[in-house]
Amino acid sequence: MMRSVEIVEVGPRDGLQSEPGVLPTAAKIEFIERLIAAGVRRVEVTSFVNPKRVPQMADAEQVLAGLERREGVHYVGLVLNRKGLDRALAAGCNEVGMAVVASDTFNRRNQGVGTDESIDAWLEIAKAAREAGVRAQVTVSAAFGCPFEGEMPVARVVDVARRCAEAGPFEIALADTIGVGVPAQVTELVTAVRAAIPATTRLRAHFHNTRNTGLANAYAAVQAGVTTLDASAGGIGGCPFAPAATGNIPTEDLVYMLGRSGIETGIDLDALIATGKWLQETLGRPVPGMLVKAGNFPRLMAPPAA
Ligand code: ZN
Repeated sequence: MMRSVEIVEVGPRDGLQSEPGVLPTAAKIEFIERLIAAGVRRVEVTSFVNPKRVPQMADAEQVLAGLERREGVHYVGLVLNRKGLDRALAAGCNEVGMAVVASDTFNRRNQGVGTDESIDAWLEIAKAAREAGVRAQVTVSAAFGCPFEGEMPVARVVDVARRCAEAGPFEIALADTIGVGVPAQVTELVTAVRAAIPATTRLRAHFHNTRNTGLANAYAAVQAGVTTLDASAGGIGGCPFAPAATGNIPTEDLVYMLGRSGIETGIDLDALIATGKWLQETLGRPVPGMLVKAGNFPRLMAPPAA
C-alpha cells in the first residue's frame, strides 16, 4: 500500500458549483490561496463552461487573474469542449481537466452530446493541450452509477477509460458523481480500469459522500492502487440529484484518516481545519465535514490539580 497520496482540492469548483449563492471573486481567491498555504499543490480552481448554465463560474478568468502563481502548484481548469480549453489556456491554467460521462444519457443531459462525441472532444483537447505545453487529464464521470441509466457495467466504464487513455493523458480519474459507490465496487472497478490502461497513466478517484460511503471508498481506492484523490474543504459540494445530500469527501477528514494511517499528503491539517472554519463563516452555514466540528486529534489536557 502507498505511503503517500496526492490530494486535488476541488472545493473552489465542484464544491462551490452547487452553492445557492454566488461567492464574490475575492472570496474565491482567498479560499484558493488558503488551500495552497495549507500545502495543497493541485487545486481545481474553476470551470470554463457556459456562464448561463453555471453562473457560479462566470468569473473564471478573473479568479485566475487574481491568483498569485506559486512554483509547483497546478491550477486546474475544468473544460468540456475546445472553446473551454482555449479560455483556460488564455487564462493561464497549467493543467486542464475534462469530464466524459460513462452513461450516454447523463452525458447528453450534461454536455448536450453523447459519450462517443465527448470522447472525441477529449482526444482533440488532449492534443491541443499537449501542443500548448499544458498537461491534461480526464475524468470518467458517473462511473459507479447513473441517475438515468442505473447500474454502470464495469465493462462499459473500462471501455470508456481505455478509449480516453488513447490520448496519452498523465492521469485518468473515476468519479462517483452521484455518490452511490461502495468500497467493494471501488476495488473491482479500480482493479479493472488499472489493468486496461497503460501502467504509466496515473489513476485518480473522485467521491461524493451522498450516502456516507465516501471516506470508505477513498480508503478502498488507495488500497487498490489509486495515487490521487479529489476532496473538497469542509465537504461542500452537494449532489445535483440528491438536493439535501452532503458534498464531496471533506479534505480535512480525508487528510486525518490518511495521516493517522501513515499515508502522507503534505498538507497541514490544522491550517486546513482553519480554512474549513473560514469557509463555514464565509458561506454563512455549517459545512458537512466532521473535522471542522471535532478538530484534530486532541491535545493532551493537563491532569486536574490534586
Ligand atoms: Zn463531483
